[in-house]
Amino acid sequence: MQLDILSDKPTTEVGSYFISNYPPFSAWSAGQTGAVERVLGEASAAPTRVTSARPAPGNGSTGAPTSAAPASGAPASASPVSDLSPSDPPPLGLYLHIPFCRKRCHFCYFRVYTDKNSSDVDAYIDALSHEVALYARRERFRDRPFDFVYFGGGTPSFLSNEQLRLLVGRINEHWHWDHAREVTFECEPGTLKESKLEVIRDIGVTRLSLGVEHFDDETLALNGRAHKSPEIFRAYDWARRVGFPQINLDLIAGMVGDTEDRWHAAVERALDMAPDSLTVYQMEVPHNTTLARDAKAHGEAPPVAGWSTKRAWVDAAFRRFEQAGYVVSSAYTVVKPGPRAAFRYRDALWRGADMVGTGVASFSHVAGVHFQNADRWEDYLDALASDRLPIARAFVTTDRQRFIRELVLQLKLGRIDLAYFRGKFAAEAVTERRPVLDALVEEGFARFSGSDAFELTRAGLLRVDGLLPRFFEPQFQGVRYT
Ligand code: SF4
Repeated sequence: MQLDILSDKPTTEVGSYFISNYPPFSAWSAGQTGAVERVLGEASAAPTRVTSARPAPGNGSTGAPTSAAPASGAPASASPVSDLSPSDPPPLGLYLHIPFCRKRCHFCYFRVYTDKNSSDVDAYIDALSHEVALYARRERFRDRPFDFVYFGGGTPSFLSNEQLRLLVGRINEHWHWDHAREVTFECEPGTLKESKLEVIRDIGVTRLSLGVEHFDDETLALNGRAHKSPEIFRAYDWARRVGFPQINLDLIAGMVGDTEDRWHAAVERALDMAPDSLTVYQMEVPHNTTLARDAKAHGEAPPVAGWSTKRAWVDAAFRRFEQAGYVVSSAYTVVKPGPRAAFRYRDALWRGADMVGTGVASFSHVAGVHFQNADRWEDYLDALASDRLPIARAFVTTDRQRFIRELVLQLKLGRIDLAYFRGKFAAEAVTERRPVLDALVEEGFARFSGSDAFELTRAGLLRVDGLLPRFFEPQFQGVRYT
């Protein structure tokens, strides 16, 4: 069941609110993984080396996929799953999951490890680069360079300088990103040195994302963060000196111990640093977190402010950033207008790009098929040691589901272009969802603008994840999301 973030309760219940994909992950199954092999196509005998050919300009809108996929939830036993031809492909991205952290944050639900030694990390680098090599051989990716690359985690900056060079060197034996429009790299401030930032720049990173979360040391400690505020300032100065085209800071409103004064102070400190962009999340307490376990053990709600308080804090932050010249570019981002404002990874994915997700528990989306890797360390490494892709579950989407996926994801930008959807998908798909759009207008969460735009109001944008399930098909209403 999706969390009710529209309520005005003073506390935050345990559960997830963030919508990152459609259909819900709980509908993906091991029974559909056969479809992945079919969309990837034949493997060539030796890995191909994809190096050149700058990707064509575009935004992922390459025409309407008209898959003959089975109905949602049905096993994909036969049939082509998509007619997206490799000769007319959407942009392609690579996600590299680096699942190591110095400490586990109390709100973290990701597949991360805090107990691995350097030989474990080396074994993981071997497996990860081998996984990329296996994909590079497949027909689906022949002559397709990466449009965007994302090092996510976990903590990519946990890797040493040598490990980073080794990983990228191995991957580049098979696949290059020298013409990628964007290479993002997530960092935990306390893991950085100036020399590591030089390595990160030299491997082609264009967008450095610093996981600050808060500037108040007591709040950071209460949430189990590994870093303190002096490490944030030091890392930021080094990053500016080393030189990256874009530096992003991540903040979370309403962490344990956060107060209105602390939050406003954090916003001011972030403004003083003048990053190119900021990501601002509202704190959630998913299952499988230390906070959720503690709350269940004590029979109490987690000590996190309620959704209306968090909305008010993010709203105040957005207004303060706007005063300082930033623009709100989605429910979670503000950017300084200009060439450093782009977020290609998000925009391409939300418009149906293909993405190969590598690493333990990673998610992929290729030619209309969602799939996820094994989420246990041993299973992931064993599969690659046997020369197999480590895919554990999948979901074959229908045309309608791809339409809904893009619709709900793009609504998180605060504005959608209905003409884009009519052009890419069946026009009736938009007509079918019109009553939901009208209801959002009626409730003050949205408005139609001009002839073909639909915009969320600020009130709608701040609670967008709570509104999106209304667009889901009936079989996915009220089901567990993850
Ligand atoms: S740094 Fe990020 S990935 Fe690592 S434990 Fe904390 S929240 Fe999780």
